[in-house]
Amino acid sequence: MTQENRSGRQAEIHITQMRRNPYLADYSTGNRNADKNINRNTPRRQRRRRRARIRSYIRMTLLCAGILVGIVALTKLLKVPAGTAEASTPMEAIDMAQQVGKGTENTTGTRIQGLSAETYAAHPDWTEDFLTVNEYSRPGDPLTEVNNIFVHYTANPGTSAAQNRSYFEQLKDNHERSASAHFIIGYNGEILQCVPLDEIAYAVQTRNEDSISIECCYKADNGQFTRETYDSLIRLLRWLIDAYELEPEDILRHYDCGGKKCPIYYTEHEDAWERLKEDVKNL
Ligand SMILES: [Zn+2]
Repeated sequence: MTQENRSGRQAEIHITQMRRNPYLADYSTGNRNADKNINRNTPRRQRRRRRARIRSYIRMTLLCAGILVGIVALTKLLKVPAGTAEASTPMEAIDMAQQVGKGTENTTGTRIQGLSAETYAAHPDWTEDFLTVNEYSRPGDPLTEVNNIFVHYTANPGTSAAQNRSYFEQLKDNHERSASAHFIIGYNGEILQCVPLDEIAYAVQTRNEDSISIECCYKADNGQFTRETYDSLIRLLRWLIDAYELEPEDILRHYDCGGKKCPIYYTEHEDAWERLKEDVKNL
């Protein structure tokens, strides 16, 4: 080894030492700042780190507890409306049950004058003015079946529906005779109902038990009905035969059951009577 070689090697060592700067990195272990680590691992620092770790655990525990409390509180808040909903559900159920009950009652229970509410509601306009229950004009006996509708005339020209109703009503006091009808149609076309449809009237002696009777007012000497009376009669007859599932042929004159000439015009004019039934059929 020459002198030159020795000095060259020393220079090389110097460069190597320069490269191995301990403040940059410990290349042999790959651990950065190894010298500093050595300093940190003193018992004092270890205690400090342990305390820091404990504080960290405590903080984490407190944080977890806080989150837990938050979740519980949130659940309770959410459960309040849920509870309300539960409380209202039975109420709604009761309401619904009542609705269903009402529906059932409406469709099967409610009957007006012996007819379903729906059928009854379709009747032509009339004024309900029932007679007082009495043995001369409104006995109050039930009418359980309807096989015919009888048409009458009042046999008293120029009298109104109201006057003829009063006549029926007064029979309870004067006891003159027994007479009435379910309806009276005035010569202006007004309809008065005197007896409910589920009760018998005293109109056709042998058929009171299974028929409905209509009295018609008139002005003409021959007993012909006014246009107004006639039109109301056709509408009422149409509704009645529909309500009781009858045919126009089931509409009878008082004359057809007992021979009395009532209603007189339609006993003397068969064609007019046939036309009347046709008009009911075609309405
Ligand atoms: Zn009659």
